[in-house]
Amino acid sequence: MKFNPEEEILKLGNPSRFNFEVISCYHCGSDESEKFLVGEDDLTGKEGKFLYVQCKKCELVYQKPRLPITEIKEFYDSEYIAHRKKKDWGFLTPLYERAMNKHDREKDKLVSKYVEINSQTEILDVGCAVGTFLLHLNKKYDCKISGVDFKEDLSYPDFDKINFYEGLFYEQPIEENKYDLVTMWHFFEHDYDPNKSLEMAKKVLKPGGKLIIEVPRLDSLTFKLFKNKWPGVQAPQHTALYTKKAILNMLKKHNLMVEEYLPYGAFPPYFYIFTGTYFKMFGKGLKLDKIIFPYFLFQLLLSPVLLFQRKLNLSMQTIICKIE
Ligand SMILES: [Zn+2]
Repeated sequence: MKFNPEEEILKLGNPSRFNFEVISCYHCGSDESEKFLVGEDDLTGKEGKFLYVQCKKCELVYQKPRLPITEIKEFYDSEYIAHRKKKDWGFLTPLYERAMNKHDREKDKLVSKYVEINSQTEILDVGCAVGTFLLHLNKKYDCKISGVDFKEDLSYPDFDKINFYEGLFYEQPIEENKYDLVTMWHFFEHDYDPNKSLEMAKKVLKPGGKLIIEVPRLDSLTFKLFKNKWPGVQAPQHTALYTKKAILNMLKKHNLMVEEYLPYGAFPPYFYIFTGTYFKMFGKGLKLDKIIFPYFLFQLLLSPVLLFQRKLNLSMQTIICKIE
């Protein structure tokens, strides 16, 4: 029998308020697909089961059918970015804040290898959330910072220093040839129209400018370990799951020149190891205040292995593209 994603999603017993829409492959436009896996929102524990298919023509794995963009908002409440906000974790607070700042420092280390950042550098972060990465760069280099995102309840210190665009990236009235660097940290796998976003990035970048994309890597060790409980599956927010081949295919389709491909990112792979193990053992719904102590304890125990994290293809990938 021919695989039909519309029939398949009905078997999953979702709330009747979900109105699914069927889409074609983001990369090649084909409608031919086969079942890949069923994913849930393991991180927040929200209800819903979502179907990922694999394109029969180009092998891209994407969510089909998906919730329309107007209905995805309930999955992006403040809880989703809660881990970025300041909170009191008792005696672990300094450790927690160090980990959060470290993430921004790792992003800085990564981008400053490819772009010389000074007071004249124009940087746009697509999916900037509360903007801590941009503010870190601005403080260190005095560079010019812009960000795009959907507005959450964003009362974050210094957020007004960011030239902020609210809404969909490709609908923003952004000046062409303006930016030296466009970053997409864990934005691309959420994108409802990755083709439009790549074209928009090309348009707003200067000749010689760089586009840096970090996404979870489907053909990684943590996916092999956790499968549908892999934290990178997070559904319905993650609209597509990219292997190395799939992301490079997408960039090639838009004539983006890849300067370098990295089998790691700024995001700590340990987060995927810990949460994937947790979802496998205890099911969905991660309570940060309950797990914060074991989180840091196991990180300490795993630290000898994590020394080699960049060589192990654990969970992430980063692609640096240069605009000609
Ligand atoms: Zn395809």
